[in-house]
Amino acid sequence: MTRRGPSTDQIHHPFRAPDGWDAVPVPVAKASTVLFKNTAELHRPRARDGISYRYGLPGTPTTYTLAARIATLEHASHCVLTPSGVSAITLVSLSFLKPGDEVLLPDNVYGQNRHLANGLLARLGITHRFYDPLDVPAFEAMLSARTKLVWLEATGSITLEFPDLIGLLQACRARGVLTALDNTWGAGLAFNAFEVAPAVAPGLGADISMQALTKFPSGGADLLMGAVCTRDVALHRELVATHEYLGYGVGQNDVEAVLRGLPSIALRYRAQDAAARELAQWMAARPEVARVLYPALPDSPGHVHWRAVSPEAGGCLFSAVFRPGFDARRVDAFVDALTCFGIGYSWAGPMSLAVPYDLSRSRSLGLPWTAEEGARWCVSRSGSRRSRTCARTWRRRSTC
Ligand SMILES: *Cc1c(COP(=O)(O)O)cnc(C)c1O
Repeated sequence: MTRRGPSTDQIHHPFRAPDGWDAVPVPVAKASTVLFKNTAELHRPRARDGISYRYGLPGTPTTYTLAARIATLEHASHCVLTPSGVSAITLVSLSFLKPGDEVLLPDNVYGQNRHLANGLLARLGITHRFYDPLDVPAFEAMLSARTKLVWLEATGSITLEFPDLIGLLQACRARGVLTALDNTWGAGLAFNAFEVAPAVAPGLGADISMQALTKFPSGGADLLMGAVCTRDVALHRELVATHEYLGYGVGQNDVEAVLRGLPSIALRYRAQDAAARELAQWMAARPEVARVLYPALPDSPGHVHWRAVSPEAGGCLFSAVFRPGFDARRVDAFVDALTCFGIGYSWAGPMSLAVPYDLSRSRSLGLPWTAEEGARWCVSRSGSRRSRTCARTWRRRSTC
């Protein structure tokens, strides 16, 4: 018998751990190469939308487990994972739009979704228009035979107006237009994207829900991932096909980290909601601040629509509009003076964050308040449990 070298001994080691192991965490299965038992198995045609183990890119047992759990969180039946929230947005738009089509976006849409429409989609001959998420009649007037996809976001980014979700979805349903909701804010917890108001409009919901797993599902500020969920197998097949064209894959260490975060997601959501609510109320009473945008506050734009869909969850984000006279320099000084807040993007991680925004460059239809009411500068933050104790520090340290 020829002696095998130590490398071969390791690679072809015969020991197999016995079956019967069980534990709370999901085992991490990593692979680029997936092994077939024999060539007959290699030649077998693969299942169209089921799980088939042929290569690491589409998924491993760990990925499929996370996808199933996200589908449950989202009240959906199918889910595909993508390498970031932005890539999940791109996946949806590229799956359902072709040259000559038009996509409608809310004016408070997440910045990268606007960027995609202005850039890559325009290059492909796909046009877009922005709508006011609070004005259903104006939105209805924009729907045409070319409208092939409508993006919704509840609540919208930065200015946090809660859209008239019921009215917008009804208008799309009546015209048979496909709807995709960026559900990062609600995370599947604030409301059910596929049935947004069961008491008043049974069965009314988005066709597709995407979310950045980077935010609440991870909760660690340590990874990027996205998910696209549906209840419709035909839509899911389109998404899977485009997913394959784009060569999207996710790293199993990151998948493991999200799986670890999911059991505590509802607890974290509630705790961050409570902290943000307290800070938003405190901020609303500050003399420098013209108004605080937080869907659960009665004078926040879209508050009635928030009540109709998500009367419990206020979310962990709020924005403060500073009074006229507080220019960029003073708002920056306010942010710089905060002691317990990091300055940086993203949210729902362990650290509270604050960022100054110039909204004049990020909106097409103007702002939901007048210049006399508030300057164009705005600060958005995410509240963690810790932030509660920080409100007192703000009071002492804020110099704006
Ligand atoms: C963060 C975010 C995204 C993008 O997620 P990434 O993982 O950072 O690419 C998309 N939509 C919303 C509403 C977000 O907040």
